[in-house]
This record gives sequence, structure tokens and C-alpha cells, in this order.
Amino acid sequence: THFGYETVTESEKQDRVAGVFSSVAESYDKMNDFMSLGVHRLWKDHFVSSLNPGATTPLGQPQRMLDVAGGTGDIAFRMLRHSHVHNANPNIHITISDINPDMLAVGRQRSLRLPASYQSGLSFLEANAEMLPAQIRDNSLDLYTVSFGIRNFSNIPAALREAHRVLKPGGVFACLEFSKVDHYPLLNAIYKRWSFSAIPMIGQLVAADRDSYQYLVESIERFPSQEEFRDMIVHAGFAVSGDGYENLTGGIAAIHKGIKP
Ligand code: SAM
Repeated sequence: THFGYETVTESEKQDRVAGVFSSVAESYDKMNDFMSLGVHRLWKDHFVSSLNPGATTPLGQPQRMLDVAGGTGDIAFRMLRHSHVHNANPNIHITISDINPDMLAVGRQRSLRLPASYQSGLSFLEANAEMLPAQIRDNSLDLYTVSFGIRNFSNIPAALREAHRVLKPGGVFACLEFSKVDHYPLLNAIYKRWSFSAIPMIGQLVAADRDSYQYLVESIERFPSQEEFRDMIVHAGFAVSGDGYENLTGGIAAIHKGIKP
């Protein structure tokens, strides 16, 4: 069955997204490896090293980061490792926030395997990216990340406004998301065939859940192009440099960044 949610309301979309991620939570990490043939790990590594967390410590305060739609922790754990190992800087704090308690529970469980010094720089928060709770104060964060999350939001402009609200002036918004392969027809053809045929089938075989993976593929299709999304970021008040984005693997994924002036 296709969800075809062009006709559904925002709250219906939210319920649907909640259902999808509750049912995929347990198989999520394994499925990412299957579906992307492991490439999501390289994209995430590149995303995190490009942000270089821990490179600066604002006046002895910990560098404060929020990983929105942080799910099972892939980005936050890499950020901690990068800061501790690459920059020898333990003075960072990351909040993993996600709307879905099942995804957060898997993240919490996985975090127990991290060194204790990483765990003390980590907290978890159940929150909707479109309406972050008041405890995330205005102008309080150095870095806001969202990885493979934003295409699931019902109201992307609202989430971008929230990102802008909670970042300090000079703070960075960074998004890793599936995008459009526009300049490589052959790669695009292979990728489309892979995503529309293989991914739902792998979802069926590995997770016994064809519909959820079908939804994930369709949500990629509906997400705006690199330029459209960049324009939304600018519209929310961020400054971008150059094109405002970087393509990964020919545009299968892209990184967008913006700075709060
Ligand atoms: N960031 C992780 C990663 O890169 O592997 C997880 C990405 S997962 C594909 C998408 C996540 O977005 C899910 O955990 C889902 O619960 C979360 N999500 C969907 N809508 C959300 C919203 N409105 N607010 C916060 N999180 C949301």
C-alpha cells in the first residue's frame, strides 16, 4: 500500500511518522546499513568532521549542541567521539532529541556502551522539532544538527524557525538529508531502481515491514531539491556561504549549513 499523504493533514502525517519509527526502531540501525550498503556511515562521518565539534570552547563553557531527530544516536555519538578523540576536548554537551520514545530508547541503550566520560556529556529529550520545549532557551546553542530527520517533519518552516530561535548568534544549523541526483542520469536511474524496488523488499525481508520502508522511500521523493531547501533555510533567517549546500554521492544526500547572524 502507498501512503500517498499529499492529501493528509499535518497531524495525520505526524501519527503516520510516529507509527513508522516505532515499528522500525529495533531494526533501524541494521536497516540503514542494508539500505545504503553502509554508505550512510561515510556520510555521517563526513558530516561530523565537517562540523569539527570540540574545535572551539566558548569561554570555558561547554560547547552546546542539539541533535534533533537524533533517533538512535548515530550523529551525537560521532560528535562526542570527534570532540574527545580528534580535538582532545571533553568540554561539550549534546542533547539528543526525538519525537519518538522508541527511537530514543534504542539510543539510550546504545549509549551505555560509550565511555563514561562521553555519557556525562549526553542527555536525551523527547521533543517535537517544530515546537521545542521552553527548556531549550532562545540563543542558547552553538550547534544544531538534524540528520535524515527533517524530511519527516510535517512543518519544515516551523522547525527551521525553532532552530533559529534556539541557536546563539554565530551558531550553526547543519542538516544531512537525502536529496536529488540531478546531474548524473545513470546514477539516478540506478538509485531510483534501488530505492523503489530493493528497499521495500529488504524492509520486508529484514524487518518484516514493507510499508514503513515504502514510506521512507516516498518521503525522499517528496523532499525539496537542494536549492529549494537552501532557500527555505535562508528564509528562516540563516546566512549561507556559497551554494549553501554540499552534495554527497552525486546528490543522493546533501549537507546544508546556515549560520544565525
Ligand atoms: N538522526 C538519526 C540518523 O541519522 O540515523 C535518525 C534519523 S531517522 C530516519 C528520523 C527520525 O526523525 C526518527 O527517529 C523520528 O522519530 C524523528 N522525527 C520525525 N518527526 C519528528 C519531529 N517532528 N520532531 C522530532 N523528531 C522527529
